[in-house]
Amino acid sequence: LADGLAAERDLPCETLDGIQVPLWVNTGLGGDNGQSLAQGAQGVGLYRTEVPFMIQERFPSEQEQARIYRTQLEAFAPQQVTMRTLDIGGDKDLPYFPIEEANPFLGWRGIRVTLDHPEVFLAQIRAMLRASEGLENLRIMLPMIASTHEVDEALSLLQRAKRELRQEGVRFQDPPVGVMIEVPAAVFQVEALAQRVHFLSVGSNDLTQYLLAVDRNNSRVAHLYSAFHPSVLQALQRIVRGAHARQRSVSICGELAGDPAGALLLLAMGYDALSMNAPNLAKVKRALRQVHLAQVQALLADVLTLDTAQQVYAHVERFMHDVG
Ligand code: PEP
Ligand code: MG
Repeated sequence: LADGLAAERDLPCETLDGIQVPLWVNTGLGGDNGQSLAQGAQGVGLYRTEVPFMIQERFPSEQEQARIYRTQLEAFAPQQVTMRTLDIGGDKDLPYFPIEEANPFLGWRGIRVTLDHPEVFLAQIRAMLRASEGLENLRIMLPMIASTHEVDEALSLLQRAKRELRQEGVRFQDPPVGVMIEVPAAVFQVEALAQRVHFLSVGSNDLTQYLLAVDRNNSRVAHLYSAFHPSVLQALQRIVRGAHARQRSVSICGELAGDPAGALLLLAMGYDALSMNAPNLAKVKRALRQVHLAQVQALLADVLTLDTAQQVYAHVERFMHDVG
């Protein structure tokens, strides 16, 4: 089986009727890069920048960050690298910046923290911009967005960072900026958010947790957590429609994209790219290469009539068994 999957590596990721689906990887630790490239990744859909912050004993300086980001950009150039600004809080704590709250997933997390600490946000985006000098593959992405306010504020800090760097004579790429759709409120304002940025990316891990009110790390309720829940699927479909109505591309970087059953449904919905952990690339590509678009669109129409995540998953599994 492993040999069969290895043989897929150099084949294009396209359906039987020639629809190309870009496959990207999620990265964080430098060690991922070699494996991702070896597996044929076409870019980075999510670089979790909190990882370099977590392995330090204090906030890394702008220079230190710029060096780390440069390595990441160079490893994948000319393929794009989507760098997410710091997403701490929730289950991700920095030892030197403890956040103690009764409900951390509903508290001070992601963009909320960095907008309250513009010096942290500015140092990070300045470092990303510095790292991009002479390259053209940086994209910047904002996590945990729940309102247009947050996007406007973040964009104005980005403008300030660019202005200051120009004054300092630093050269950099003017990168596309995107927003993560992972809070239910963002699903219903997807058009207004899309209007403000260049691209969207769905964080299905958090979106599932927040839509179903199920802590993604609590084993007692793990059986209730599924991105195949009909409400999650409706939300995912709503997001693509809103993004495309505003002519914005939309990818997905949650675990759902790395599950072949999820990837087929996301293709049917019209997602423009799928980003996943490197070990999932080969099996997702194999699943996508076995289907016609019309076939998975019919599959999606069928599963959208079902009432439970279990029924949806079983239905998609039967389909995969029949085609594969
Ligand atoms: C997500 O929420 O789906 C996501 C990709 O981000 P993280 O898992 O880092 O919260
Ligand atoms: Mg998330």
